[in-house]
Amino acid sequence: MCPVTGAGCSRRLPRTSVRAALSALLVCAALFLGGADRPQAIAWHYAVQLSGSERARATIELTLREVETRRVCVDMSGASRSVRKVEQVVGEGRSVPLQKDEECWTLVNPALRPVRVRYEYDLAGAADSFDNADYVQRHGEALTFSDEAVLLRPDPLPKLQPSPLIEIEFSVPREVQVTAPWLRIPGPGIRYQFDAAQYDGGSYVTVGKFRSLGLLALKNSRVELYVVGTAKASDETLRTWIEKAAAMSDGFYGHLMPPVVHIVLVPIAGRSSLGIFGTVLRPLRPSVVIYFGGDATELPLHDDWVAPHEIFHIGNPRVRYKIPWLVEGFTTYYQDVLRARAGALTAEEAWSDLWDGVRKYCQPAGTSLQSESARLRQTYHYTRVYWGGACLALLLDVEIRTRSRGQRSLDDVMRELRAQSLRKQLDEAAVIAVLSRATSPALVRRYLQETKSLPVQETLRALGVEVVGPDRVRLRDDAPKSAIRRAMF
Ligand SMILES: [Zn+2]
Repeated sequence: MCPVTGAGCSRRLPRTSVRAALSALLVCAALFLGGADRPQAIAWHYAVQLSGSERARATIELTLREVETRRVCVDMSGASRSVRKVEQVVGEGRSVPLQKDEECWTLVNPALRPVRVRYEYDLAGAADSFDNADYVQRHGEALTFSDEAVLLRPDPLPKLQPSPLIEIEFSVPREVQVTAPWLRIPGPGIRYQFDAAQYDGGSYVTVGKFRSLGLLALKNSRVELYVVGTAKASDETLRTWIEKAAAMSDGFYGHLMPPVVHIVLVPIAGRSSLGIFGTVLRPLRPSVVIYFGGDATELPLHDDWVAPHEIFHIGNPRVRYKIPWLVEGFTTYYQDVLRARAGALTAEEAWSDLWDGVRKYCQPAGTSLQSESARLRQTYHYTRVYWGGACLALLLDVEIRTRSRGQRSLDDVMRELRAQSLRKQLDEAAVIAVLSRATSPALVRRYLQETKSLPVQETLRALGVEVVGPDRVRLRDDAPKSAIRRAMF
């Protein structure tokens, strides 16, 4: 079964409409005017002071320099309950408590320059109540939190080009470390730079005690790897596990792979299974948290699909809102395809696993994949959508290869979607349009909206995938599309 990734379960607040965002008090005039030879100014700044370990607390000062707003908000629904003592500094030694309105606080004097807002964040309390990295989660002597749950932002979040720059600095007790996917900049202290677009996509920040496992240099990307707590597997085993999993996506996406990937590994004590669960936030500097069995001593990709799955997510098309049949479904397909191509699974093992997944969830009669996907947050039918989406990916891959006589595949279309989405985030209609151009205008919509069985058994038979049990297949080379199957992996 697939994990419920952060990408699938986070609860962001509804954003102010585009029109409101445009007419809102966006800023920047003086700032971004300078032309190419003038550095972009910092639009807003956070000073974060961390204290306590067991009862961890953050005191945060937000300084808005180059952005106008009437209120500041947390971005994750419900996160405001851990925010305390929000006040605006209105003069030397004078500050005024701010009125709360749902997940936001209204400034008493929005015209002040700069606007300074101070507040406290109860990290320990949030970890106890949420226990979720999309908010705050404790892992032994470290905490991981999402910046969107902890850092108040101007409302609406400016969506300018170039994206407004943000700086953050941490003051921490001597024994506490900080790691985040952002660009580290020279001190004093622990300082990073990122921008509003990165905030919009979210970042996992880990504070406390953890270890760096170094940088993994891939062809197109580099992975900054950390581990929290202790694992029975050696550091070398952990590095090799992630390096191999990341190399699969690096080879797949090529130059479309994000240049830097931030991964935190969290061993779960007493568990010997390999990858257990993972969560990904995927703006241009993506961050990944992967939970694995602390008792596992070996981590072969033959037995782990979690790391390949989570890392593949970072190159998924950038979408304007959640499209689980695409993002989760197609990633579920590729977690097997890429492992087979890398030799971690034999072709027969990969087809057996695909068959095991799609036979139950490809299209149980009743509700279409598109409507299951749209209602995923209400129904929690994750396996249905993940494997139903994988089934769709499989059928489309075969269709594209058949129509193009082996010249193109779903790989090309995934890269096309990724490239297009880097210019402009895609919505579902745009994704369907690209998939339809590669197959046929009506096919993708028909498969998405079909409420009866999809032709997966016929397709497998044509590929020479002969079903011999609920999770076992045998491969034959005398089927009409055996050559296409062999080209897939
Ligand atoms: Zn996923």
